[in-house]
Amino acid sequence: MKVLKFGGRSLSNEGISKVVAIIGKAATEGAVAVVVSARVDATDRLLDLLEQARTGEDYTPALSALKAYQSAEFGVDLTNEFRLLDKLLEGVSLLKDYTQRTADLVLAQGELMAAQTVVALLRQGGVKARFVDSREIFKTDAVVGNAQILSGVSEEKTRALFAEIAPREVAVVTGFIASTEHGETTTLGRNGSNYSAALLANYLNATELENYTHVDGIFTANPELVPEAQIIRTLSYEEANELANFGASILHAKTIIPLIEKQIPLRIKNTFNSEDAGTLIHAQSEGEGIKALSVSCDNALIVLEGRGLLGKVGVDARIFKALAQKQVSVSIISQGSSERGVGLVVAQADAEVAKQALEEEFSYDFYTKDVSAVSITPEVAVVSIVGQPLSTFHHPYNALIRNQIVPLLINNAATGKNVGLVLHASHLHKALNVIHGEIFGVSRRINLVIFGKGTVGGTLIAQLIAAHESLLKRKNLSLRIIAIANSTRMLTAAKGVGGDWEATFEREAQPYSLNTLKAFVDTHHLENLIAVDVTASKAFIENYIPLVQSGFDLVSANKIANTISYEFYQQLREELRLHHKSYLYETNVGAGLPLIDTIRLLHHSGENITRIKGIFSGTLSYLFNTFSAEDKPFSEVLRGAIESGYTEPDPREDLCGNDVGRKLLILARELDLGNEFADVKIENLIPENLREGSVEDFLAHLAVFDPIYQKIKDAQAPNHVLRYVGDLHGNLEATESVQLDVKLISVPKDSALGQVRGADSIFEIYTDSYGANPLVIQGAGAGASVTARGVFGDILRLAEAMIFNF
Ligand code: ASP
Ligand code: MG
Repeated sequence: MKVLKFGGRSLSNEGISKVVAIIGKAATEGAVAVVVSARVDATDRLLDLLEQARTGEDYTPALSALKAYQSAEFGVDLTNEFRLLDKLLEGVSLLKDYTQRTADLVLAQGELMAAQTVVALLRQGGVKARFVDSREIFKTDAVVGNAQILSGVSEEKTRALFAEIAPREVAVVTGFIASTEHGETTTLGRNGSNYSAALLANYLNATELENYTHVDGIFTANPELVPEAQIIRTLSYEEANELANFGASILHAKTIIPLIEKQIPLRIKNTFNSEDAGTLIHAQSEGEGIKALSVSCDNALIVLEGRGLLGKVGVDARIFKALAQKQVSVSIISQGSSERGVGLVVAQADAEVAKQALEEEFSYDFYTKDVSAVSITPEVAVVSIVGQPLSTFHHPYNALIRNQIVPLLINNAATGKNVGLVLHASHLHKALNVIHGEIFGVSRRINLVIFGKGTVGGTLIAQLIAAHESLLKRKNLSLRIIAIANSTRMLTAAKGVGGDWEATFEREAQPYSLNTLKAFVDTHHLENLIAVDVTASKAFIENYIPLVQSGFDLVSANKIANTISYEFYQQLREELRLHHKSYLYETNVGAGLPLIDTIRLLHHSGENITRIKGIFSGTLSYLFNTFSAEDKPFSEVLRGAIESGYTEPDPREDLCGNDVGRKLLILARELDLGNEFADVKIENLIPENLREGSVEDFLAHLAVFDPIYQKIKDAQAPNHVLRYVGDLHGNLEATESVQLDVKLISVPKDSALGQVRGADSIFEIYTDSYGANPLVIQGAGAGASVTARGVFGDILRLAEAMIFNF
């Protein structure tokens, strides 16, 4: 015999025909007994009605609504139940009071109506069915509201009744309700029909209990909150029990024990997807055990604080005694070894009562100042990571901190592998996703906001989209672009933009502020956030600190934040430290060349860097490489560079040397030197009379350059060439004795600087260990695709630090 149990949602108007079909099919395969809950939320509704009647409110509209739903269009005769409800509620409204016994009788109508409805529908479908009022077979003590089953008699009566049932007849049994030996109605506690079903299976030696719900089975986390949650196909009874302790009422110990006793497998299935095999809970355990997240909501954290608690005997005993007297149950207790405070998690509804009880109990200790406060933190949730050993707990924990979720309290069961985290309920959704992503490694998500969609930005977005699949496959890493912004509008996409982002941007981008961005990431509970600045905007850097404060790491190709005042430079780093965030900007100097990273590693490992010298500007590299090699006037070479797009729209931005100066300053600061831009001595390549005025005007007078640079070229020693370099030298131990020079120099053709071709950059890093032969980094130091690739590299560095390297 199989026992099938159906929950309230399965029995809704949408589900009930499916229920009938499932039972009908099972009946053709063998003997079945069915246990039903009240339909949908009838139990809650009946409780509400009782309260309305007690407080003298007009309960009749709600009662009519309940009746209307229950009788629906099925043509089932529920007159007896309705009449009883009318009478009982009328009594309550007259007395303005009711006993728990009355309540049990009112609540019982929910299951009675459900079972009769199912019987009637089965019969309409040609299935032989019999209504069984469980009060005739399940006997309990007289404790109302949560009665204890009397196993001996109940088993006997159940067997006797089922012995009478014809082989092909389906018995439909009311869940949740029972009766005393004198025939008074009792109930088995909320969600009790799971227990009823387990008892029935036990008494009848069932081959399996199928519990039909509205979800496919037990998941690694609530799939409504965590889209990546995965179904757990099999669980052992013990594992199920671990999960049950934290809210999965279907797995309540009470329910599992009768099944363990007879080794009856429990299968959790979905009425609305009954083809799915669901989750099987049985005696065997598979491999290394399961992991899952379970959640308990509607809690409050109570903290009893006081310096006089240290070493006092019996404080905890008094806490529990005071709470027990008020029927308050404590789910988590935590006490530091200094005993300065005790934290307790209780149901939100009990919080005030608990606080009062503690204040009363400790009133004398308040007076002696041994206890200073009893406080309530309302709206807390408890996330339990079931199957989480402490040895790897730092993974999910670090992930939470990185996402600015700091647990209020951490608790690990001394037995088993569970860690409980008490959090503000407002953090729950995000916390679940962060922890789930971390421990299941389903795919580790990084959420990117790209500011700037110009040449570099556009190239970066294309590179990110192109690499998405392979990163997911090889590294289990999903780099999603959740927003793209230009200076006025932003396109958001919580699941990441697609290849058609440009058109979508045109259609859908909205004006934005940092606050709307924050609201967007909060609403969608987006974690692991990186803001990528591929603008060249001075205004934008004002957002850096607010972004860091809002939980973003930063990646930037924009040099400005690193080259305005040293004060801002330090302030930004202080904020980063405070918020455990990183800021990477490899492309600030030499585009994608791994320069900053190399310098940083050398510097931090204690290597003494004595000088950095090189060609920092791809544009000026091209200009002087060509001018030195070819016999052409300077203006002609310059015009060629302009036409090939090597220069800024106003070439004077390159020629003035400020860009090289900024890069040099960035490197100096990388070496912990506090220099300002004003400390950089820059040789401006533009003749004085061309420095002001419009671009057109400037372009019309390029010939002014020719005599000046021809003279410089001719004055060189044999086999020498011109190079425009940045040079960081002097005593690098002290900010004030550092020399930062940007200048045009003449070097031997066969030297490292002299042999550079095209628009390449070159950097010579002199250190104590490398001696006279510097470490040289050379290659394309400009261009959209190498720059974008460098930004991509920074994103990957961050992703690795965020996700893999713990
Ligand atoms: N109808 C009862 C309740 O809502 C029992 C159950 O559904 O299991 O608590
Ligand atoms: Mg670089």
